[in-house]
Amino acid sequence: MSGAAFVAPGATLGVLGGGQLGRMFVHAAQRLGYRTIVVDPDPASPAGLVAHEHVRADYLDAVALDRLAGCAAVTTEFENVPAAALAALAKRVAVAPGATAVAVCQDRAAEKAAFASSGVACAPHAAIASPADVERVDASLLPGILKTARLGYDGKGQRTVGDRTALAAAFAALGGVPCVLERRLALAAEISVVVARNARGDVVHLPVHDNVHVGGVLAVTRVPARAHVDAATQAEATALAERLARALDYVGVLCVEFFVVEGGALVANEMAPRPHNSGHHSIDSCDVSQFELQVRTLTGAPLVAPRQHSAAVMLNLLGDLWHDGAAPDWARVLTLRGAHLHLYGKDDARPGRKMGHLTITAASAADAEATAAEAAHRLGLAPLAAATRQARRPR
Ligand code: ADP
Ligand code: MG
Repeated sequence: MSGAAFVAPGATLGVLGGGQLGRMFVHAAQRLGYRTIVVDPDPASPAGLVAHEHVRADYLDAVALDRLAGCAAVTTEFENVPAAALAALAKRVAVAPGATAVAVCQDRAAEKAAFASSGVACAPHAAIASPADVERVDASLLPGILKTARLGYDGKGQRTVGDRTALAAAFAALGGVPCVLERRLALAAEISVVVARNARGDVVHLPVHDNVHVGGVLAVTRVPARAHVDAATQAEATALAERLARALDYVGVLCVEFFVVEGGALVANEMAPRPHNSGHHSIDSCDVSQFELQVRTLTGAPLVAPRQHSAAVMLNLLGDLWHDGAAPDWARVLTLRGAHLHLYGKDDARPGRKMGHLTITAASAADAEATAAEAAHRLGLAPLAAATRQARRPR
């Protein structure tokens, strides 16, 4: 079932997974008048804290799945929710996105096969599943990045490898699990496109996100993208993301990450079957956020093209900003015009943990950039220009 009929406000929507993406989905759903149930084993899960009901159980727990089956429609916010749970639920209730599409996004090898069958270029790569694969892999893929095929996120489960000896060591260090080796590309830019597609096949998209990663984790997103990502590249990325959504017969919000390689070529990196960190700005800078798009595609509500009404720069707020448990001085950033602070309700500020984000909106990209630079300074974040350089340095 894919939810072609309109599920009107007042109905209950279920979410598998209780992280910050689920929390922001719940906020959007509640604003539209829906009730929400979140399934997540963590008693302090960010979405569980704000949902009408939090079922503290594992994603395959029979009682939890029964509760979700009683909802009007069910979605997921967690990329690694077992596809089996979605497939089992889909027999009883409308589920979006579907298990098949989620399973593709969960496996880098399947994801790259999906890129190929849709005619979407990606980095040269090979599957590494055994020491023999290490011996025979084509030397042109080195230096490369070895990534576990499954369960990687925020740069976790990845190793940069210079030669075959390093590749063998990295494969062993990653536990000998199935991996993909990609050639390390010289990146001129990283961009992402969030698209939403409903069961009727209507597709809309957010503007192209210009992303800077530091240490494999998203640090800054700028919308509109800076001048080094030209209009033709942006149009091509948007068209490719829409093509992938159609090819997967996708219902829901899908994010496709792309690399712009030095020289200008566009290659797909990976897909996320859910709203994406790079799209968080849309809550404050667009008239329809990526989370409202998720609600609309799930409920069969009309899908209208979002309009960006403000330029935006989004800064991720990681646990590194907390010192001895003490939060940053939020008042110092809240005094800045156009500052929108989002905190996810997490108590334990570990380094690298996503605690929240700050979106700066302004009438122009230059104004948003200037205020974001000041916000970064006040928070003790790396200067924005330095973050760009760091992201380009080979890891
Ligand atoms: P994750 O699932 O952790 O987001 P990604 O595959 O997106 O994993 O990799 C994280 C980051 O590592 C990318 O955003 C990019 O900065 C860098 N990276 C990944 N693959 C490559 C590559 N083939 N060449 C150059 N940089 C890469
Ligand atoms: Mg990524």
